[in-house]
Order: sequence, then C-alpha cells, then structure tokens
Amino acid sequence: MLSFEHRYATLPEPLSVACAATPVANPELIAFNAPLAQELGAKEIPDTATLAQWFSGNQPMPGAEPRALGYAGHQFGNFVPQLGDGRALLLGEVVDANGKRRDVQLKGSGRTPFSRGGDGRSPLGPVLREYLVSEFMAAVGIPTTRALAAVTSGERVVRQLPEPGAVFTRVASSHIRAGTFQFAAVRRDEDALKALADHVIERHYPDAAAADDSYLALLDAVVARQAELVARWMSVGFIHGVMNTDNCSIAGETIDYGPCAFMEQFDPQKVFSSIDQGKRYAFSHQPAIAQWNLARFAETLLPLMKEQGDAGVAQATDAIRRFDGVFSAEQRRLHADKLGLAAESSDAEALMEGLESQMHQGRMDMTATFDALTQYAASPSDEHRDALLALTTQPQALTAWLDEWQAAQVVGQDEERFAAMRRGNPVIIPRNHRVQEAIDAAYDGDFAPFHTLLAVVTQPFDDSVEARRLAAPATDSEQVLRTFC
Ligand code: AMP
Ligand code: MG
Ligand code: MG
Repeated sequence: MLSFEHRYATLPEPLSVACAATPVANPELIAFNAPLAQELGAKEIPDTATLAQWFSGNQPMPGAEPRALGYAGHQFGNFVPQLGDGRALLLGEVVDANGKRRDVQLKGSGRTPFSRGGDGRSPLGPVLREYLVSEFMAAVGIPTTRALAAVTSGERVVRQLPEPGAVFTRVASSHIRAGTFQFAAVRRDEDALKALADHVIERHYPDAAAADDSYLALLDAVVARQAELVARWMSVGFIHGVMNTDNCSIAGETIDYGPCAFMEQFDPQKVFSSIDQGKRYAFSHQPAIAQWNLARFAETLLPLMKEQGDAGVAQATDAIRRFDGVFSAEQRRLHADKLGLAAESSDAEALMEGLESQMHQGRMDMTATFDALTQYAASPSDEHRDALLALTTQPQALTAWLDEWQAAQVVGQDEERFAAMRRGNPVIIPRNHRVQEAIDAAYDGDFAPFHTLLAVVTQPFDDSVEARRLAAPATDSEQVLRTFC
C-alpha cells in the first residue's frame, strides 16, 4: 500500500536498531485515515481485516523494516541518558504527495531493546485520545503528528487496572527529537551526531545547508519553529502536559499526546497532568520550557559548530534568545486574528491582556468566549452580546472591555477579517469530558461516540447542531480535571 524507504536506518547504529513487532491476540480495526493514506501515496486500500493485521504489527506491511529509535531526554528537568522507543517501531519513511518525507510508526506494538521495565503496549484510552486530539490539531492548522490507524489488540494491558489494549499508527515529519541529539551527544559519538544533524538539515531545513555555519543555522531554524508552534498551541488553549526534551520534535510538530488537555476556564497556571505536581508544564510556562528544551538541544550542537569555546556558546545563546522575538511576533499575529483586528493593529496585545484578565477573573471558558466574540463580531445583536456576557461572573467589567474592543473597530467588519477571526477561533475543541466519554463508551464496546466526536473535531469551524452539543463546556458534574499518560 505504501512505498517505504529507509533513510534513517542508514545512520550509525546506536540511533536505531532493527526490531520486530510482537503479534497481538485478535486485532480489530477501530479507525483508518483514508485521506491521509492517500496523501502518503496509497492507491489501493485493502480490506479491513488486512488493515487490522498490518496496523497491529501482526503481519508486516509490504516493504516495512521495523526499527526502534534511540533517544535520551530530560524528563521533568532530570536527564535520562537512554529512553528510546520502548513501545514504538518505525516502519519506514514515505515520500508524500508534496514530496515530503514522512515517518510511519506503530505505537503499542510490543517490547523493544529500549523497553526497560515496560510491557511495550498501549491501553485503548490514550490511543483514542491521541487520535482525536492530533487530528483536531491538524484540522486547525497546528503542526502535528497525524493519526493513520487505530486497532484494538484483543488483549488486556495492566495499568492501575486491566484495560483493553490497542495499537496506534502515527505519521510524523520525523520522530527526531531534541532527545535524539542528546542521545548521540551523551555517548560522545560525534559520527552519529554529525550524521544525525546532516540528515535533519537535508530533510527538514535544507536552507541551512547553504549557511556559513549550517549547524548554527539549524539551531536558529529549530528555535523559530518551536517558538511558532508554542504560540499556536496557546492560541487554542492547548496544554501539552509533558514537554520533556524527548517530546520536543526537531521538525517543530506537536508530538506525544499523553496527558495533554485544553484550557476550559481560563487560568494561566492551569495543569491537567496527574504527574505534573510541580506545575512545571503549566499553560503559561510553555514558552519558557520550550526555550529551556532548545538550550539543551543547542548544547548538543556545540561540538559541530564552526566557532568553538566561548564564541560558540555566545552564538548559541543568541540563537536561543531569538525565541522571544519569533514567539511574540507569531502571538501578535494570532491575537489579532482572534480579536478580529487587522494584523498590524497596535491594540491587539493590550486588548488581549485585558480579555485574558476578564476570562481569568470572570471564570470564563476560553473557547466559548472567543466563539461568542466571533459570533458577536459577525452580527452585533443584543442576543449575541448577552450570550457573551452570560459567560462571565463579572458582566460589568466585561462590558467595559467590550467598549474598548468595539472602539478598535472590530464590529461590522468585512468578510475577509471575519473569516480570519473564525479561523483563529474554533467552534469546538476536544474537551476532556467528551474525550473521556468517548473512551468510556469504547471500553464498553461502543465506538460510536468516538467516531461522532472525531467527525466534529476535525471540522472545528463548522457550526452544526452536533458541534454545538459537543462544544459546550462541562457542567460541574461532567468535569474531568486530571489526565494520565
Ligand atoms: P513518554 O512518557 O510517552 O514520553 O515515554 C517516555 C519513555 O517511556 C519512552 O522511552 C517510552 O518508549 C517509554 N514507555 C512508555 N510506556 C511504555 C511501555 N508501556 N512499555 C515500554 N516503554 C514505555
Ligand atoms: Mg514521549
Ligand atoms: Mg507518551
């Protein structure tokens, strides 16, 4: 079905090792992303039973040569010199319809040489969460790994309790992480490090090859992509939850949807992940953490850079500092869209600060607030104004903010600006309680709520009755406050 190539496998040995998948008892297909398969060059799609065999790892896909990739990483600030794919296998790379090389990876396909004490498996819940959230991110235009397939294994995996198992198939621009560079660097394997960096430049940042110092140019480019990525996450209230350096993609995609969740009532300190007790990865900490991760990446590049010693360190430090400028510029652009202002508007930042404070003080749901604002901007009726004011516990304060916002001439604007505003403000996000509801139903054997939710969150700007039903914030009794990896 796919024409696999194996470029990464030609890099020096410690970076990846050949490893077969361990078959599962009874694979059944949950979902298959046919449009994505077509984008990857698939012409004929086989029957469901064959797909289940392939995407569980029970039968090798023709042309696949599975490998587990090595990587290290700082987990919650602590360095672990060897992590690696403990439950994932790269099947190979595919050059897609746009000429872009992409990885196809099984996750939950059994133990590998990097498994340590783990079982190499994945419970069904996290597989469904990753499917829903990553496809939502793609639909709103945020760089992300994609979901190609999900299969139940017919086996139980034991976590706190026994749960149904599943295998997820992920497509990424690549699975190369900041932690992959750390893996080569900590071994002082300069051949592997240089081969890796050259591979990344050729694959993701070809412009860097022409620079005076291509490794410094690589650092600059990775910093810029991460800065843009985190600005976009925050524009939709995304809280990644586990921004360890092994989850920091060098291609600048969102990767690892373990304990992620979206902001509901706006709170800059918000954390959902059950394992983030120190709030290291809270919503508003994300830019600083990304920058910290990039500094760890920069350290690995120092031996390759033209300037050595203090001069090299100074150049790398400057590159890391450029994160702030790229992040702010991207955020200004996104904020202008969200508020329905012209991109060059000087009011956007002050107005956004004001609205964030309104959302925080008035306990407003972030997505509902921007959606209501978008509807009000499109047709400034009393009904739409009241709907917006109904979202806050402090309507007087919000009224004052609305006056300022209207003075910036956003209401009654042209179609184009309204379209930009809607693009910045999805009607729906995959809310925690809805994701959990879909998972709970699946654990009872009913996948219909998962498919319904997937259909709606992948058309996130559509204003349908079903979207409105699934978009509503959780009631007190529906709230899901904790997420687990
Ligand atoms: P994560 O928290 O998903 O970023 O994973 C951190 C590390 O733990 C990676 O090296 C994973 O491959 C490994 N890991 C997570 N779950 C399992 C598992 N069930 N079996 C083996 N390794 C695992
Ligand atoms: Mg990970
Ligand atoms: Mg994970």
